[in-house]
Amino acid sequence: MANKSCAHIGSVRSVRGPTRRECEECVKIGAAWVHLRTCQECGITLCCDSSPNRHASKHARATGHPVIASAEPGERWLYCYPDDAFAEY
Ligand SMILES: [Zn+2]
Ligand SMILES: [Zn+2]
Ligand SMILES: [Zn+2]
Repeated sequence: MANKSCAHIGSVRSVRGPTRRECEECVKIGAAWVHLRTCQECGITLCCDSSPNRHASKHARATGHPVIASAEPGERWLYCYPDDAFAEY
């Protein structure tokens, strides 16, 4: 059930899933990642904060794209970086 805890998450109407099962930035530099996240603004899939390069977090800060979804199979949640808000869907 959606628990809309911030306006950014509340504005996500249909959740974007990953188009690639890899971190696009890690692939370029040959780095490893742990989990994958998909930006809900532009659809890019990047790595989580447990990954060495934390590309999703860096992307959110650099672009102002606030909300990511887990790109892990079976996980259905959204996270907003600026508000540190979390919602399942
Ligand atoms: Zn927010
Ligand atoms: Zn990465
Ligand atoms: Zn983005």
